[in-house]
Amino acid sequence: MSKALHNDLPFRFGTVGTPLSAPKNGGSAGGAQRIRELSLDALELAWVQSVRVSDEACVRIREAAATNDVALSVHASYFINLNAATEEMWQAGRERLLTACRAGAKAGATDIIFHPGSYMKMEPVVAWRIARDRLAEVSETLVREKVAVTLRPETMGKQAMLGTLEECIAWSREIENVLPCVDFAHLHARPGDGSFNTYDEFAGALRLIAAGLGDRGLRAMHIHFSGIEYTAKGEKRHLNLDKADVDYKALFQALADFGAGGRVMSETPNMEEGAIVMRNAYQRARTRARKP
Ligand SMILES: [Zn+2]
Repeated sequence: MSKALHNDLPFRFGTVGTPLSAPKNGGSAGGAQRIRELSLDALELAWVQSVRVSDEACVRIREAAATNDVALSVHASYFINLNAATEEMWQAGRERLLTACRAGAKAGATDIIFHPGSYMKMEPVVAWRIARDRLAEVSETLVREKVAVTLRPETMGKQAMLGTLEECIAWSREIENVLPCVDFAHLHARPGDGSFNTYDEFAGALRLIAAGLGDRGLRAMHIHFSGIEYTAKGEKRHLNLDKADVDYKALFQALADFGAGGRVMSETPNMEEGAIVMRNAYQRARTRARKP
């Protein structure tokens, strides 16, 4: 029997964190197996508080993911700020990011997702440059250590946070082994006025990615998605798709029309149910895809 379990779609689909329906004490290895049972094919390890994973656990996760043809990524600590005010605070965040990369690579993860940080009330371009220099040093350190991962700064849903789509693309253009994690729910929440929720706006974002990062950028996307509640300042909390205003059918139509590919990771409260809704919407969109 063939081991090629992957669905052959340009996108893999999965959850950020172990699916709710996975056995309670199976850990991330059990999560990878559950992802496959659900006919999904990607899992993001939610190492968002701290990394407490042994080398043995990394081997178990890697083997379970390989056996089940599940692509792995890591969501690194929430406590990383590329624009941290003091060198001491930056060094603590840097160590958290490097730890996620080193352990993630051992576990078989190819992509490390993280929140780039806060403007700390600075001019955005000044904060962006500080973040660029620090991220470049992290990337160089990983190359020197032969830790082969892609660093993925995430687009953020609050206006006070670093991480517009433009900023994430600009880091990716300047630094080796960096590509955006495009959270479309955050991009919708960020302006706070309900905008960024139409086919044309989603298509505009994909054009921006293609212009900045080429076809490679479009074909190797890492997407976070969910419904989302927001205020005038941006993101409030994630919602299930059927409880939210986000026009996910238009999003998947744009992704299909542009020939985008990579991974779509559900961050809805109902996790795997959301991932399945997303995959089904994408498959329907593919049958109607036309050149944009
Ligand atoms: Zn995130």
